[in-house]
Amino acid sequence: MGCRVVLLGLPGAGKGTQAERLAKALGVPHVASGDLFREHLNKNTELGQRARAYIDRGDLVPDEITIGMVAERLARPDCADGFVLDGFPRTVAQAEALERVLDRMGTRLNIVPLIQVSEEVALARLSGRWTCRKCGAVYHTLFNPPKQPGVCDVCGGELYQRSDETPEAHRRRLEVYREQTAPLVDYYRRAGLLVEINGEQSIEDVQADLWAAVRAACGVG
Ligand code: ADP
Ligand code: ADP
Ligand code: ZN
Repeated sequence: MGCRVVLLGLPGAGKGTQAERLAKALGVPHVASGDLFREHLNKNTELGQRARAYIDRGDLVPDEITIGMVAERLARPDCADGFVLDGFPRTVAQAEALERVLDRMGTRLNIVPLIQVSEEVALARLSGRWTCRKCGAVYHTLFNPPKQPGVCDVCGGELYQRSDETPEAHRRRLEVYREQTAPLVDYYRRAGLLVEINGEQSIEDVQADLWAAVRAACGVG
């Protein structure tokens, strides 16, 4: 029952863009660890204060902070019938923790699509990304511009560039992916869950391939 998806891919691959649309189609929550952190930053919670320096450098927030935050979100009733996870797990320890959380819920993942793009494409996408302050929708100055510059199509909110959208933080995030997140590709391949999606296509074409894979794995959508 339900559909439980983890999206993997480089920072900038298009996970958030696709997760939002897929979650809507499946009728399940889009759970993005980066969005959860940004909520804490906005509200200036204690967790946000502990996480801020890591995020601004492009480093991973330590597992002992991250895992609890995501586990708490997945335990809420709206995730009982499934979810699309985006940005978590990013380390093998996080993947193992996720497995324990799902075990306790008596369930497991259905599919782990890997949205594949080169580092060059990822950087080009990251450097033109603008995010809505109010609803978190993402745009790209060239590839996915809003109808009106600086204004969110969805909610009319103000668009801004995240404080971690600097060339230094971008480079660091790609490095961190190579070192700490890339091992998850083999981890999920061995588990029989990995499906590779060509991310170097239009948003619509990536979506079509992704939805076909998810439909096959979950028998829905
Ligand atoms: P991630 O969540 O993997 O970091 P995002 O979904 O935020 O990636 O996308 C990164 C940037 O690339 C955004 O500006 C987004 O509008 C843009 N983008 C997403 N998918 C595509 C695509 N298929 N082609 C071109 N640009 C894209
Ligand atoms: P992107 O869309 O560029 O991939 P995210 O919005 O997912 O970035 O994440 C932004 C930042 O939040 C990361 O660079 C990292 O500092 C922190 N973060 C998000 N998810 C995790 C995670 N699973 N583990 C550790 N840190 C995380
Ligand atoms: Zn918005």
